[in-house]
Amino acid sequence: MKIDIQKLVRKNILNLKPYSSARDEFEGENGIFLDANENPFGELNRYPDPYQRKIRQKLSTINQISDENIFLGNGSDEVIDLAFRIFCEPGKDKVLTFSPTYGMYEVSANINDVELINLNLNDDFQIDLETLKPYLYDENLKIIFICSPNNPTGNSIKNIEYILENFNGIIFIDEAYIDFSPEQSFRNKIENFPNLIVSQTFSKAWGMASVRVGIAYASEEIIKFYNKVKPPYNISQLNQNAILNALNDENINQVSENNKLILNEKKILIESLKELKLVKKIFPSDANFVLIEVENADEIYKKLVEENVIVRNRNSVIKNCLRITVGSPQENLKLMETLKSIN
Ligand code: PMP
Repeated sequence: MKIDIQKLVRKNILNLKPYSSARDEFEGENGIFLDANENPFGELNRYPDPYQRKIRQKLSTINQISDENIFLGNGSDEVIDLAFRIFCEPGKDKVLTFSPTYGMYEVSANINDVELINLNLNDDFQIDLETLKPYLYDENLKIIFICSPNNPTGNSIKNIEYILENFNGIIFIDEAYIDFSPEQSFRNKIENFPNLIVSQTFSKAWGMASVRVGIAYASEEIIKFYNKVKPPYNISQLNQNAILNALNDENINQVSENNKLILNEKKILIESLKELKLVKKIFPSDANFVLIEVENADEIYKKLVEENVIVRNRNSVIKNCLRITVGSPQENLKLMETLKSIN
């Protein structure tokens, strides 16, 4: 069935006249720019390219996806939030998530006054399709968020294909951790599914969390709406420069070497954790962190903090579970020493 994206978009966004940035119609770099009330002096005096064309072109070449299918956000958190603004009528529409998962879907839903349907993942942290099925036909359900690999559980989510084939709203796949995973990205499926948004980020595998740049891959139609609603200059020139500098062959190789190192450290960490009495369970992970179940998460968390080792206490979400990011070899050693002293 052909999906009409326009029908999914909020009415006021369809008719919205977006802010038009100064210089929108001028593509050159050399000119006398007296159009944006900038200061003629200094090095950082000009507004950045609102559409981050250079970065999008590089990403387009690297990933073999047209730059018209790419949107850049101020972190993937902005990519998530803008999806609400494009598709969800406050006080009327709904989104759906699978719990436990990344907290920002719920926060963004609350900020945007959108009802959140939260279905629990099963004991293997997978989607239970039978529970999901009735919701797929709710006309007010606008977005299904799927985080894969999932944060905080670490596993990749199965059955995404089924949802793509059977849901006519927006399917938002959050692939923040995909570069650590053996699974394929869904990025290349945007050709077949005009209602699919795949988000990725420079914050994790690229090691650039401080720069705050996230990516949405989606149909041209969806990207056009992203550009319509985004703040005009959502990514600063300094941050655009940092990303541009990172997108060269040498650095890309370095990133890939670092990620191999992180995955190797993860293996070592898991082996050492297995030897601890206080660790009850280690959940399978396709990401750069592991979720473990311990005897008393609150107590162990507190003892680690006393030694300046900070992990994420997820006891309130999954009973007695801690989420541990894989650090450098030295950091992981310090973690293990401290855990052994508690053991
Ligand atoms: N998605 C997931 C699943 C995450 O874990 C995070 C960060 N913790 C984000 C998105 C946000 O990433 P950023 O805004 O840094 O791109």
